[in-house]
Amino acid sequence: NPKLSKRVNEMATSATLAMAAKTRELQEAGKDIIGLSLGEPDFTVPEFVKDAAIQAVKDNFHSYTPVDGYGDLKQAIITKFKRDNGLTYTPAQIVVSTGAKQSLANLAQVLLNEGDEVLLPAPYWVSYSDICKVAGGIPVEIKSSIDTDFKITPEALEAAITPKSKMIIYSSPCNPSGSVYSKKELRALADVLVKYPNIIVVSDEIYEHINFTGEHASMAQFEDMYDRTVTVNGVSKAYAMTGWRIGYIGGPEYIARACNKMQGQVTSGANCIAQRATITALIHPPEKIKYMVDAFKKRRAMILELLSEIPHFKTNEPEGAFYVFPDISYYFGKTLNGKHINTASDFSLFLLEEANVATVTGEAFGDPNCIRISYAASEDEIKEAMKRIKETLSSTE
Ligand code: PLP
Repeated sequence: NPKLSKRVNEMATSATLAMAAKTRELQEAGKDIIGLSLGEPDFTVPEFVKDAAIQAVKDNFHSYTPVDGYGDLKQAIITKFKRDNGLTYTPAQIVVSTGAKQSLANLAQVLLNEGDEVLLPAPYWVSYSDICKVAGGIPVEIKSSIDTDFKITPEALEAAITPKSKMIIYSSPCNPSGSVYSKKELRALADVLVKYPNIIVVSDEIYEHINFTGEHASMAQFEDMYDRTVTVNGVSKAYAMTGWRIGYIGGPEYIARACNKMQGQVTSGANCIAQRATITALIHPPEKIKYMVDAFKKRRAMILELLSEIPHFKTNEPEGAFYVFPDISYYFGKTLNGKHINTASDFSLFLLEEANVATVTGEAFGDPNCIRISYAASEDEIKEAMKRIKETLSSTE
């Protein structure tokens, strides 16, 4: 639309949100669709966190909040970083935002100039590329595949670096692949990055607690990377608080100050009630939310077993988050129920229309061979969805 800015015209619509909208549309038209497309826990907010929010309303928290977050919330975040990650931050190094998405958008806005390159180990979370593009950055994908568990090698990282490289963004545990970088693997990447001091690392750790390996490693734990790393986290995934919109960063003070300045002009401080509830969520040890992690682990085992019965899905074992990311490229070039499948988008649409199961195309995540299936759904839904996919594909053979 020529009436709109070039900026927004060139922006992609979030593929996950687009799939959610399409699913809702079909559901409203009376179709029985099982939605496995959203990156959202199906749990409700833990009672102790709800109680804190209710108390905050009763205690009359209602005013504008400090742009970078309440002082006592920053203290709770400092406690959390120390307790869970062994990371030391001062209040001036912390910024609370309206979801980790805003934390990432702030970082892109304050760090990138027109033409700066952003290294994105692929597959990566959908929004990274457009958040960077809108800030003038150029996404540079670093490919991986199911054969390396969707993790990049130090060699691939080094090959992608140019004098214009300004930032690298990755998530571990990873959305969409569920891959988790071990401390040793991160160190190998750090050994490359130390040679290029201009590159800032954005380590998105929002799935930290949903990790089945028992080890969560942070780039900022390495002394030689601490001053160049921004750690992003939030309460959406681990505390099932997606709609409460609280994310935060810990990082170098000059970057935190810049994010504060940017946010102060764009949205101001995050929601007061959600911030109060987040204090309660974070000061309690993560054992409090282990029941959700245990449920995800059980569902992972279940979905992997069911997926293994579906013809020509190539699946690895994800170590965290709540997604599986099967390679379905076998179906490219085939015609299923009269529909030509040439891309992962075609395949995902086929599953939606023919099997009534919503997934997301891997293309949006920088991997054109895969689709993302979320198992943040009930066991019954997962079973029924896998049955539908299996039967639909078997009937087309
Ligand atoms: N980072 C990753 C990897 C995500 O998957 C998501 C949510 O889908 C976010 C960040 C954004 O989280 P928030 O709800 O805190 O904005």
